[in-house]
Amino acid sequence: MNIHEYQGKELLRRYGVAVLEGHVAWTPDEAAEAAKKLPGPIYVVKSQIHAGGRGAGRFKEDPNGKGGVRLAKSAEEARAAADAMIGKTLVTKQTGEGGKVVSRVYVEAGCDIGRELYLGLLVDRATSRLTIMASTEGGMEIEEVAEHHPEKILKVAVDPAAGISGFHARKLAFGLGLTGGQVRNFEKFVAALYKAVIDLDCAIVEINPLVVTKAGEIVALDAKVSFDDNALFRHKDLEELRDDTEMDPKELDAVKNDLNYVALDGEIGCMVNGAGLAMATMDIIKLYGSSPANFLDVGGTANAARVTEAFRIITSDANVKAILVNIFGGIAKCDMIANGIVEASKNLSLSVPLVVRLEGTNVELGKKILAESGLAIIPADNLADAAQKVVAAVQAARNGAAAVKKGA
Ligand code: ADP
Ligand code: MG
Repeated sequence: MNIHEYQGKELLRRYGVAVLEGHVAWTPDEAAEAAKKLPGPIYVVKSQIHAGGRGAGRFKEDPNGKGGVRLAKSAEEARAAADAMIGKTLVTKQTGEGGKVVSRVYVEAGCDIGRELYLGLLVDRATSRLTIMASTEGGMEIEEVAEHHPEKILKVAVDPAAGISGFHARKLAFGLGLTGGQVRNFEKFVAALYKAVIDLDCAIVEINPLVVTKAGEIVALDAKVSFDDNALFRHKDLEELRDDTEMDPKELDAVKNDLNYVALDGEIGCMVNGAGLAMATMDIIKLYGSSPANFLDVGGTANAARVTEAFRIITSDANVKAILVNIFGGIAKCDMIANGIVEASKNLSLSVPLVVRLEGTNVELGKKILAESGLAIIPADNLADAAQKVVAAVQAARNGAAAVKKGA
């Protein structure tokens, strides 16, 4: 789960991570009020969306105007900046062409920037450790630095059992060319950030840029905080930071129904139990020349209600031209799944071809239920057969549509 910059900074502040004072504002008036609470004379008004590259981004409504991060020299200028952002669509390198609507801004104290660095902390699955990454190339996209100047990214791995020590941070500090008091400030900063990442079960925290001020302070000027979804149950208080408007509505629906769903841009809707089987199903659809519209794992405890929910989410995607159900009945029995499919198909008056492959416990009974349902369900015997049938069904539907067009 991702959160907004201002929320991330608020959390990090509690752990003693150095951030500047700032206030969130939902209206231009609130932005002016927020600026008045800050010392001045420089304020920065920052669009809050779940995407980076805001500074260099442009608003759809004003493509030749300024970006999503603007300086203001008075409360009135802060109000004007907020007015130019709130309710507008910001397009950045990370949002895609559609952009994202800004619903609120963060008004922050201006910073006297000396140097802009990069600092990231993430769980590295390969080493089973936390990796701290740092670079002198702050402010730019770290992916580009990684591609063109990998030597400019410094890495230190921390064994979570032993925890962080001063030498981890010092090693990075010297690599970054920090000196004297800057090194001590950096050490403090990294230790506080590490504690926040562990306590909050973050998957990744990126500070880009991490700034060395002219006075030698180390400050987080940006903060991207992302939590490990599998640990969110331990942090009920973080749930309220979820911004539903930033999520794909189908994915949001899936989260609420406890389904593992990721929207993709293909044409075949998939309903599968088990992540491994779901991956294999997506692969084989590709192999036979089409592409999946989603990843959906209904889980080992799939039942009729979940099957219905899953169908509802899949069919709400206009790109779905056919559905492939691939269920291995273990704990979830095939007859129960078959009943769920029949019920859901009727309730949702399904209009696209549906291919079903069942295997496992009570498979014969499950197949019988589908066959006797009176619905136009296409049965399949194995994974390859199912994939071929669903791809053929999509192509037949496309050819049919083309023929109708030609005839007209
Ligand atoms: P994004 O990464 O989405 O573009 P950032 O928060 O990194 O947004 O801001 C972009 C740039 O704006 C920073 O690299 C920095 O130069 C400048 N900036 C951001 N916040 C401040 C601030 N409080 N004071 C001065 N400059 C800032
Ligand atoms: Mg940034």
